[in-house]
Amino acid sequence: MNIEEMRDISLKEFTTLHIGGICRHCYFPKTEEEIFYLLDHTDPLILGCGSNVLINDETVLENALILTKFNRIRKEGNTIVADAGARLMDVCLFALDHDLTGMEFAYGIPGSVGGAIMMNAGAYGGEMIDIIKSVKTTVKDYTKEQCEFGYRHSVFSDSKECILQGTFQLKKGNRNLIAMKMKELIEKRIEKQPLESYSAGSTFKRGQDFYASQLISECGLKGYRVNDAQVSMKHAGFLINNGHASYRDFMQLIEDVQRKVFEMTGKKLECEVKIIGGKDDLRK
Ligand SMILES: Cc1cc2nc3c(=O)[nH]c(=O)nc-3n(C[C@H](O)[C@H](O)[C@H](O)COP(=O)(O)OP(=O)(O)OC[C@H]3O[C@@H](n4cnc5c(N)ncnc54)[C@H](O)[C@@H]3O)c2cc1C
Repeated sequence: MNIEEMRDISLKEFTTLHIGGICRHCYFPKTEEEIFYLLDHTDPLILGCGSNVLINDETVLENALILTKFNRIRKEGNTIVADAGARLMDVCLFALDHDLTGMEFAYGIPGSVGGAIMMNAGAYGGEMIDIIKSVKTTVKDYTKEQCEFGYRHSVFSDSKECILQGTFQLKKGNRNLIAMKMKELIEKRIEKQPLESYSAGSTFKRGQDFYASQLISECGLKGYRVNDAQVSMKHAGFLINNGHASYRDFMQLIEDVQRKVFEMTGKKLECEVKIIGGKDDLRK
C-alpha cells in the first residue's frame, strides 16, 4: 500500500494554534482501506484540521494520522454523506450548491467533519446534534441517539474509535437565503473573533450559568500574557499564540487564567481544547 507519509515533521504545521512537537511518521490516508491498515499497524494520534488541539512540543510522537485528504462529499436525497476529513466549510458550501438548508450555523467553524462530530461542534444556536443522522466509525455505525451528544461532547470523546463518515440530514431550502445566512455568520465571526491570530477557538467551555469569555474579561485578563501566549484583546474567550508561544507558555496561560478567575469569581473554567501529550491526555 502506498500511503502518503511525511517523516520527522513538526505537528504545529497541522494545528491552527501553531504549537506542537515532532512526529516521526505523519500519514495522510485517502481511503478507508488505508485508515484501517494504519490503525492495524500503529497507535496514532488522529487529527482532522487540528483546530481544537494543543499539542505538547516537548515530546516526540511516533505516529499521527491526518485525515484531511480523506474528504469525499456526496448527496443522497436531502442528506449529505461526508468523509471525516472533509472540511466543515466545504460541506456547508456543498449544501449551498445543492440548495440544502440546516447547516449554515457551521459555516466558519474551521474543523473537519470527524472533529466536529467528536466535539459536537456548534455555533450561533446550532450544533452537530441538530443535523447528524448517523455516524460511521471504524467499529460500527451509530444512530444520532447512540452518539450521546452533549455540550462539546459525544460518545466518541471518550473512545479511541476513528470516525469515518457523517451523514447530515438537511432540508430543501432557498439558495439565496442560505447564502445570506452564511454571509451574515461569517461577518459576525470576522467582527468578534481574532481570526488573524493563531488560536484553537474558545479555549474554555461555557459553564452552566456563565460564558467563559465574559468572566475572563470581567476579571481584567484581556491582554494578559505568558511570553507569546496571550488572552486575546478582541475576544477574551480566545487564548492566542502571537507567533512563538510554546506548549509550556500556553499551559501556564491556561492555568493562570483558571486560577485567577476561580479566585475572583469562584467559577471553574474547563478546557474545551484537547490537550495532547500532557499529563491529562486520555490517550495515555
Ligand atoms: C478560529 C476558530 C473558531 C472556532 N469556532 C468554533 C465554533 O464556533 N464552534 C465550535 O464548536 N468550535 C469552534 N472551534 C473549534 C474547532 O474548530 C472545532 O472543535 C472543530 O470541530 C474541531 O475539528 P478538527 O477537525 O479541527 O479537530 P482536531 O482539532 O483535529 O481534533 C479535535 C479532537 O478530535 C479528535 N478527532 C479528530 N478527527 C477525528 C476522527 N475522525 N475520529 C476520531 N477522533 C477525531 C482528535 O483526536 C482530537 O482529540 C473554532 C476553532 C478556531 C481555531
